[in-house]
Amino acid sequence: MSAVVVTGAASGIGRGIAIGAAKRGRHVALLDIDEQALADAASAVLAAGAASALPLVCDVSDEREVDAAFEAVADRLPAISGVVANAGIEVSEPLASATVESWDRVMAVNLRGTFLTSRAAVNHWRAQGSGGSLVCVSSPSAFVGFAGGANTAYGASKGGISAFVRAAALDGAPDGVRVNAVVPGATDTDILYFGLEGEALLARRAELAQAAQRQIPLGRMARPEEIADAVLWLLSDESAYVTGSHLVCDGGLLAKSANTF
Ligand code: NAD
Repeated sequence: MSAVVVTGAASGIGRGIAIGAAKRGRHVALLDIDEQALADAASAVLAAGAASALPLVCDVSDEREVDAAFEAVADRLPAISGVVANAGIEVSEPLASATVESWDRVMAVNLRGTFLTSRAAVNHWRAQGSGGSLVCVSSPSAFVGFAGGANTAYGASKGGISAFVRAAALDGAPDGVRVNAVVPGATDTDILYFGLEGEALLARRAELAQAAQRQIPLGRMARPEEIADAVLWLLSDESAYVTGSHLVCDGGLLAKSANTF
């Protein structure tokens, strides 16, 4: 059984992908900055049936940490067949008061992190003499703005990821490296509730559930496992002829916005 590497694997969608890979009996390397949540996710991955779980503390924005993590995976796990560049952060700031620091941090984690993870994956496959499947996590904000704005850096980073995926797919095709993006719609994870706790957290949850019922054609947010299923299909041989594509998993949101005047 081959190995799958997932960044941002300690929480939310990344954790769902890691558990989904585990259920398919794969070796799973989990990369994240949150050491405690990472240990918990690695236990869940083992309990779900992974051949093995390798938690690695790694900041995807740091070149040396990403390359070292891939070296550790190469040393300790069987051949890597799939890599998921999933780690991401969101900062909500109106443009007029947005800071250079938060712009740079969003770009460093989301866009540079995707580049560094992808480059390490491609170099690993080159050394291994094999192809592989790389999945990057984009967002509807790569294609449409959100009412209320306030996430220009995030949208720009995800737009960059979507363009990167198409370019990297052409770059990798001659070597049998497939590169695709998953576009999750609103998915019920911590990123939606950053910095909130107690009453404020409960109120935001209720507010988002109501907004989802009103605005998302399928009437609800996604569960992380539902996004994970799409990623796992792109990692599998069932998608062998798919590269340079975007798989939109948003309950119909983008289709609706295209028809809303
Ligand atoms: P999440 O906050 O639950 O998970 C993100 C994970 O990334 C966390 O475990 C966090 O510790 C990790 N992380 C943050 N910075 C990191 C870094 N520098 N290096 C390594 N790991 C880091 O959020 P999520 O919703 O699971 O987000 C996963 C991906 O899905 C992100 O790229 C996000 O932009 C994207 N996405 C989420 C939604 C949504 O509605 N939840 C929608 C569209 C896209």
